[in-house]
Amino acid sequence: MQIFVLLRTKLISMFENREKRTELSELGEFKLIDRLTKNVTTRQKTTVFGIGDDAAILNFEKKQVLLSTDLLIEGVHFDMSYMPLKHLGYKAVMVNLSDIAAMNAIPTQITVGMAVSSKYSVEALEEIYAGMLLACEKYKVDLVGGDTTSSTSGLMLAITVLGEASAKDIVKRSTAKSGDLIVVSGDLGAAYAGLLLLEREKAVFKKDQSIQPDLGGHEYVLERQLKPEARVDMVNRFADMKLLPTSMIDISDGLASEILHLCEDSGLGCNVYEEKIPIDPQTVTVAELFNIHPVTCALNGGEDYELLFTVSQNDFEKINGQGEFYIIGHMTETGSPKNLISNSGEAIPISAQGWDGIKNKDKA
Ligand code: ADP
Ligand code: MG
Repeated sequence: MQIFVLLRTKLISMFENREKRTELSELGEFKLIDRLTKNVTTRQKTTVFGIGDDAAILNFEKKQVLLSTDLLIEGVHFDMSYMPLKHLGYKAVMVNLSDIAAMNAIPTQITVGMAVSSKYSVEALEEIYAGMLLACEKYKVDLVGGDTTSSTSGLMLAITVLGEASAKDIVKRSTAKSGDLIVVSGDLGAAYAGLLLLEREKAVFKKDQSIQPDLGGHEYVLERQLKPEARVDMVNRFADMKLLPTSMIDISDGLASEILHLCEDSGLGCNVYEEKIPIDPQTVTVAELFNIHPVTCALNGGEDYELLFTVSQNDFEKINGQGEFYIIGHMTETGSPKNLISNSGEAIPISAQGWDGIKNKDKA
């Protein structure tokens, strides 16, 4: 993949290797919007009219409409020194699609609010849009509007996503029942392992720009950090299997924080078994490199964008032995503790350290 070729050569700075640099001031807002959106097409039947008027027009007829917004700030949510622009655009969309998938709904449209400083060129913004449009194409989501303004520092992206579902299919966080199985759709901790590597290489690069980053053999964890995929496929899979999860959330902040959301919103406890948490061998290798327990990456890392959901025990046969259904525990009665059962059988109360926690700890 293109990104890893680049990463192996050197860490990417947004100003490097750009043949042409057009200043934002040369174009002005309207021409900029035209340039960024010239390749936009719409595919959803719910999109009546997209970009080009004061508002988009949508028609969902009898479907329920889901709506969610995520704000991404340079220096807080992404770091331009190792985040390729196209990947940033792609990931910004994925983060939003993941929230709709977590409701067991299908994402249909996005709008993009963007505040940008003059350090960005028109070409840089085109790269970000190329990533966003790639994500839209892959998930058949329409880009139907946005707003563009200047910023005094860095880049801010506020993406709003709409989705659709029949009322009976929508899955909330608050509806798990005691005894339900806790399931995760894929391996955890890899995105955090990828971040550890990128942060390390950034620190090395800052000290000595002649040192080449050493990222070989870690492609999987880097891809999980730089190019995550929202699990919209799982929504279709649930429909095909006639399986309705009893509660669901996407894993943006780490397993610990997300399972606590399901427990607290459903008023239940849980037992999650350490040995059942799926972790990729590459994640284990990187965690060991950094002297971190691999399970800590899964629990307190974040940005894996897998789905965490509960299913009734009656549905066990439907999911047993199916790929991408990893049963990691079960919900327990109201008032019970929220426990991680360690490999030695010890019950450890789960605490929400979450993503910000781990980052702050690293900085401390
Ligand atoms: P207004 O002045 O009414 O806010 P704009 O000139 O900002 O209108 O926007 C014109 C059209 O371009 C609208 O359809 C708007 O949704 C769209 N648009 C503006 N900025 C963006 C953007 N960053 N990405 C996609 N569409 C955009
Ligand atoms: Mg506007």
